[in-house]
Amino acid sequence: MASKQDTPKQKVVIVGGGFGGVRAALELAKESFADITLVSDRPEFYYYPALYHTATGGSEVHSVISLAQLFSNKPVRVIIDTATRIDRLGKHLLLKDAPPIEYDKLVLSLGVVTNYFGIPGLQENSYGIKTIAEAEQLKRHLHAQLIAQHEPDLNYIVVGGGPTGIELAGDIGAYLKDAMRKHHITHRAVHIDLVEAMPHLMPRMPKPVGRAIERRLRKLGVKLYLNSKVEGASAEELTVSGKPIRSHTIIWTAGMANNPFFTAQDFTFSGRKKVLVDEFLRQEGNKDIFIIGDNAETPYSGMAQTAIYDADFVVHNLRFEHEGRPKLAYRPKEPVYITPVGHEWASVVWGDIHLRGKFGWLLRNAADFKAFLDLESLPQATEQWATVLNHQDLCPVCQTKLV
Ligand SMILES: Cc1cc2nc3c(=O)[nH]c(=O)nc-3n(C[C@H](O)[C@H](O)[C@H](O)COP(=O)(O)OP(=O)(O)OC[C@H]3O[C@@H](n4cnc5c(N)ncnc54)[C@H](O)[C@@H]3O)c2cc1C
Repeated sequence: MASKQDTPKQKVVIVGGGFGGVRAALELAKESFADITLVSDRPEFYYYPALYHTATGGSEVHSVISLAQLFSNKPVRVIIDTATRIDRLGKHLLLKDAPPIEYDKLVLSLGVVTNYFGIPGLQENSYGIKTIAEAEQLKRHLHAQLIAQHEPDLNYIVVGGGPTGIELAGDIGAYLKDAMRKHHITHRAVHIDLVEAMPHLMPRMPKPVGRAIERRLRKLGVKLYLNSKVEGASAEELTVSGKPIRSHTIIWTAGMANNPFFTAQDFTFSGRKKVLVDEFLRQEGNKDIFIIGDNAETPYSGMAQTAIYDADFVVHNLRFEHEGRPKLAYRPKEPVYITPVGHEWASVVWGDIHLRGKFGWLLRNAADFKAFLDLESLPQATEQWATVLNHQDLCPVCQTKLV
């Protein structure tokens, strides 16, 4: 009789080298039943929560880890290519350049893309911080204005009152001031505006959370435009609820859309355009395709913590299935929301507990460490974490010594 050891390994193909995909591959690598392939369209993992550091003067080392480093001496085949489609009948994943890959199980964790909602001029005239290239572009622009041309903007505008926009708005003023001081440039007053379409910041959170963050941002000198809709952008200004605000630096953090890999022809979407999944996070009606992280319609999708949780859940059930044990049904886990706002201050929402201030900021540092530890070994996680904490003594753009 054939034993479990004799049965061929299950071909598990994971798409996406982000939080969900990397975590799924790392957890699966601990099992002996799977032959693992990870497909990602870029060779690095992005630690998004630290991307804004990169935009405001930090090195990209803060927020990027190479997949080769993450999977060195792990039984995971890494293919850098773009997944284009699924051949469900033949059970193959089709790639842009490489030949199709056969799968028994497919785990999709492709993340979201920036959405400009068709607002005229916005895409061409705004900066983003969703990729390293975007963060670097913004950093070079800020640096060029300040240091090379000695022409800081009158207004720096951040659009989007969610966690990303808030973190950036809270950080950018201090970065500009610091950059002027360190490059011996006469101080000039700059204005930071934060624009949000809803009446409060953090619209998905209880109102007191948004209000506390609003007070903190105002204290930092950030001007808030609440209940204000972006209607258009040009190289000179942003039009907000019918009024122009002059600026050469518009940073768009307000819109995300599901990955274009998920088409209405092949997947069914919820009202917010996430892919509908069953109680095992499988595509409805397909027992071999799992959708996790930002792509799936689950109550807390849109958070790194959820993507990691989903990855663990799927791997757990693959193991149970292999062992012939009944699978567990998905139970959503509410994430802890930590939003830093300026130096040594963060808002924390942990279930019914709301904290803010320096303690929140300490928790944020602990959460960063935990997130690195979820993906790396203790020495690697410690080193990566230290780069986020440590200040650079060279300007990351012009390499000037900063003292
Ligand atoms: C600036 C910013 C700050 C954030 N801060 C926080 C925070 O503080 N806390 C928190 O919990 N969450 C935070 N998030 C959200 C968090 O980063 C996401 O929820 C998380 O990354 C989702 O993980 P994922 O695996 O679904 O997608 P991602 O991590 O986005 O990974 C998707 C991967 O798929 C790859 N990919 C895309 N298309 C293809 C394709 N066709 N073929 C092959 N590969 C493809 C991408 O290159 C990427 O590697 C933040 C997000 C941003 C943008």
